[in-house]
Amino acid sequence: MNDWQQRFDRRIMRSIGMPLLKLERGDGAHVWDDEGREYLDFLAGIAVNSLGHAHPVFVEAVSRQAATLAHVSNYFTTEPALELAERLVRLSGAGEHGRAWFGNSGAEANEAAFKLARLNNSGGARTRVLALVDAFHGRTMGSLALTGKPHMREAFEPLAGGVEHIPATIEALEAAIDGTVAALIVEPIQGEAGVVELPAGYLEAARELTRRHGALLIVDEIQTGAGRTGAWFGFQHAGIEPDAITVAKGIGGGIPIGGLITFGAASDLYSKGQHGSTFGGNPLATAVANAVLGEIERAELVANAARRGPQVRERIEGLGSPLVAGTRGRGLLIGVALTRPVAGRVVEAALEHGLIVNAANDVTIRLAPPLNIGDAEIELFAERLAASLDDLVRATD
Ligand SMILES: *Cc1c(COP(=O)(O)O)cnc(C)c1O
Repeated sequence: MNDWQQRFDRRIMRSIGMPLLKLERGDGAHVWDDEGREYLDFLAGIAVNSLGHAHPVFVEAVSRQAATLAHVSNYFTTEPALELAERLVRLSGAGEHGRAWFGNSGAEANEAAFKLARLNNSGGARTRVLALVDAFHGRTMGSLALTGKPHMREAFEPLAGGVEHIPATIEALEAAIDGTVAALIVEPIQGEAGVVELPAGYLEAARELTRRHGALLIVDEIQTGAGRTGAWFGFQHAGIEPDAITVAKGIGGGIPIGGLITFGAASDLYSKGQHGSTFGGNPLATAVANAVLGEIERAELVANAARRGPQVRERIEGLGSPLVAGTRGRGLLIGVALTRPVAGRVVEAALEHGLIVNAANDVTIRLAPPLNIGDAEIELFAERLAASLDDLVRATD
């Protein structure tokens, strides 16, 4: 182990594995490590750095707001918080009744959504919450209860009760749903599970079934939101209106923030004193999110994600590597299916060639580059990925 690895090993909680690199700075889609080596970042902090690194709009917003008013607590409101709530209601189409609650992370957004589900209890009749097998909703106790990954849950049971994980099929939902269900929570694309899309027509059917049975439809847009999939939010591709969405990751572009946006009658479920967060919605985080979302709008980066995604996938498939089975996903949330369980080795080979990608699981590489990538970044990505895959093919032949 080198020096930083030793320091990490000694002082950072063992819940986090040894990091791949120690990074020092970033610029656009590029980062540099502590030895001055440059990398093309096609993970963007897991779909967080929407504008890339050190974008002038981000830097200006952080600096200006930090020098003006950074934090006030929920006893006060500020212009950035009001503006962000209005902006997210507008962008999500939550409409006339739309409301926002702010926290500091995705898990916290889903905690707020879980509590919202509990409030939809019809006088105690609704005790069940449905989530999907393989779903990822976060690591806190409530969001972990919603998460459908046994290896993440087992050490921490018992978790919050009443959650059932059903397969992502319309038939399974039809079989599970009745008047005892308070809510169904789904990701439009299961990012952590390996960029797995819902079956065609699932969200439409889920909307119909949840409405018929009085359950809330909650869409976890933490990874798919902020334009990532080529729409502001993933559910918008299906043309449905959910009862609530959760947001985090890309809406802050690197500042920690999460939120719950409610639609229609779901906006009346919470009443005074039922939820809160000391940091939640503070002017620093909300001002930066406003600036990031404003830049996504101004530079038309939602459309860029829609346009660049297929280009990236075309380049990957065009490499004709025997390691690549195909690509999937939407916009700039892309899964590369491998023909062999070597995703960890692809990540390492890519680092050797100055490229950051992610192993969502053994057989899937996940890509979530900044939303503002262009021809130059895609060209460099294809070059570096080709070299990495070639190395691996040679090594395993
Ligand atoms: C990342 C993620 C979360 C958890 O967000 P944190 O900020 O890590 O707590 C929840 N749901 C989805 C779909 C995510 O991708």
